[in-house]
Amino acid sequence: MKAMWFGMIVDELALFTSNIGRNLLKEPGMARKKKVPAAVEPVQAYIEGVAKNLVDRIYGPEGLPWGTKLTELEDVVIAVRDALSEKMLAQALERQAQTAEQRPEPFQKCSGCAGPVEDRPDPEPRNVQTRAGEAEWDEPHCYCRKCRQAFFPSEQEPGHRSR
Ligand SMILES: [Zn+2]
Repeated sequence: MKAMWFGMIVDELALFTSNIGRNLLKEPGMARKKKVPAAVEPVQAYIEGVAKNLVDRIYGPEGLPWGTKLTELEDVVIAVRDALSEKMLAQALERQAQTAEQRPEPFQKCSGCAGPVEDRPDPEPRNVQTRAGEAEWDEPHCYCRKCRQAFFPSEQEPGHRSR
């Protein structure tokens, strides 16, 4: 027990000193805020609000209880991030799929032969592994008679279903 406790202190200390080291390396007057990608800029304030709200709901107004390990906080943050990522992927893709009938002309052709496709409006479940996590949504597919390939309008390559 004592050894574990000690190990934890050593870990925390290592982290603490490495952070100090990092801060010392920063030039004075350098902006501390990370550069935010353009797509995120308009929702930056909202994200801050959500983060505040999540800390409130998970830990209460006093924040992280004393004695909580940094790794425990880390686990919670990663779990929240994963849940948020998967919800966002699903929402964005599901909504796009719902407008498949009105999709722009370039997306109405077969991506293999550029010929006409038949729409199969019954949505099928999709599951794609992305860099941000697992994307799950329903999407109607289409079929090219010439290529004898079924594919989803949002796919760039045809034939992933039969290969
Ligand atoms: Zn085709």
